[in-house]
Amino acid sequence: MRTQVAIVGAGPAGLLLAHLLHRAGIESVVVEIRSREYAEHRVRAGVLEQGTVDVLTENGVGARLRREGLVHHGIELRFAGSGHRIDLTELSGGRSITVYGQQEVVKDLIAARLAAGAPLHFEASDVRIADFDTDRPRVTFRHAGREHALECDFIAGCDGFHGICREAIPPAALTVYERTYPFAWLGILAAAAPSREELSYASHDRGFALFSMRSPELTRLYLQVAPDESLDAWSDDRIWSELATRFEGDDGWQPNQGAVLERLLAGMRSFVAEPMRHGRLFLAGDAAHIVPPTGAKGMNLAVADVQVLARALARYYASGEEGGLDAYSATCLRRVWRAEHFSWWMTSMLHRPPGDDPFDLRLRLSQLRYVTTSEAAARSLAENYVGLESV
Ligand SMILES: Cc1cc2nc3c(=O)[nH]c(=O)nc-3n(C[C@H](O)[C@H](O)[C@H](O)COP(=O)(O)OP(=O)(O)OC[C@H]3O[C@@H](n4cnc5c(N)ncnc54)[C@H](O)[C@@H]3O)c2cc1C
Repeated sequence: MRTQVAIVGAGPAGLLLAHLLHRAGIESVVVEIRSREYAEHRVRAGVLEQGTVDVLTENGVGARLRREGLVHHGIELRFAGSGHRIDLTELSGGRSITVYGQQEVVKDLIAARLAAGAPLHFEASDVRIADFDTDRPRVTFRHAGREHALECDFIAGCDGFHGICREAIPPAALTVYERTYPFAWLGILAAAAPSREELSYASHDRGFALFSMRSPELTRLYLQVAPDESLDAWSDDRIWSELATRFEGDDGWQPNQGAVLERLLAGMRSFVAEPMRHGRLFLAGDAAHIVPPTGAKGMNLAVADVQVLARALARYYASGEEGGLDAYSATCLRRVWRAEHFSWWMTSMLHRPPGDDPFDLRLRLSQLRYVTTSEAAARSLAENYVGLESV
């Protein structure tokens, strides 16, 4: 088998890259270890920046997103018993965010790939990459009971944080920057109509809570918990009661309750591996970087990376010119580090670390008051939240 670009991983990064390359007339093969069913039902991100919506729409995979996505013009920060709205659209020159589940983006991209009749192999195993420091990189894998060797010009490592591509780079060629946080998120998906239209981020003495939604029927809620917390320790009643406490305020607002359809624990980590290229291997999305979810940046960064990569590959195949490929890592890392800082900043402002002292608490409260009373501070939050056009 031979192709121009071998893509490892069919998450948002791998699938969008395959789609953008197809539209540019560049062949690719996507290899994914999970089933289509699994990929299409993995509930994760849900907040799309304006730029993410734009790229999906401009490339013909945004019709359902435009129909079903919930456009939001603000978020709430809730602390010291009161809610404060940040008007994202007014403060960012008319931009907004759209709530549309990552699994829906994945479904739309898989549908586009299959409609194009282009290769996408689910349930592959023993995926390995080799010779990416030469002109003849290879991806080998097992699929449908047969061994395959795929020769290509380039490999795109879009296989997420736990994938094999980053691990295949010699450690001496990568620098890793990392921070783990002393808390995790316990998340639930509830069959309950969202009781407010916009997201609410609560900073409470007992810790952080987030109210979000995935559709007009589904509410998504998160609680800050200890990093080694066990889901078994949290009955549905305990979760609802803790949420009620952390969201209490002078307006009496509370999330609607409903059957808990799904629960998860997510660790909080900041991680960047530099550079995002080694020879003819290009890392994109979570394979190269992770942000804590507080800033809602992970999927948006994956989308931004593959736009840069698709443009660089199109230039290479059109003219043989490698300038875009050479600049790929540095171009992406500028946006990545902006998102790393914003995500770390939102996380630090809103969470209560174990063992903090009254001084830390007052600093966080002061920052929350500043960001909800100073237009300059609110504007900075808003433009980062909706996504900076050029970084
Ligand atoms: C609870 C939670 C909430 C989040 N909320 C948000 C949010 O609101 N906004 C936001 O922007 N981001 C959010 N994120 C982050 C977002 O989900 C990720 O950043 C996004 O999935 C990254 O896309 P990706 O394609 O790079 O990686 P992934 O989605 O991880 O896709 C990688 C793919 O590669 C496959 N794979 C792995 N190993 C191999 C292998 N060896 N061979 C072949 N395939 C392989 C995997 O099965 C997977 O399908 C959240 C994440 C979590 C966990």
